[in-house]
Amino acid sequence: MTAAPPGIARDSCPFCGERPRLRWWNYLPSQSGGDIVCNHCGERSCLSVQSGLFGIFVGAICGLGLMFALLKHISPRVAVALGTAVWFVVCGLVVRLTIRLDPPDVR
Ligand SMILES: [Zn+2]
Repeated sequence: MTAAPPGIARDSCPFCGERPRLRWWNYLPSQSGGDIVCNHCGERSCLSVQSGLFGIFVGAICGLGLMFALLKHISPRVAVALGTAVWFVVCGLVVRLTIRLDPPDVR
């Protein structure tokens, strides 16, 4: 785990310190990484592994919890669909809250 340089926010570009424009899909963990292109200096950065994994973990707990809670009341197919949707939404929210951008070579 690398510490962010002083004066640079966690969600700012690790190269120039400006905040890159983030799209919603940047908050979903991806295999590729390096998807976030800074619109100030043009360097690529990626979501830190820690916040991505934390998002998946918390999202899984919320999604699976809701799924099992609903299984008794609605059809399993709908419960699984809702649980999966909640998984993605919670994962995106958690990553948004815990976001840190790393240079791609940190991975
Ligand atoms: Zn930059």
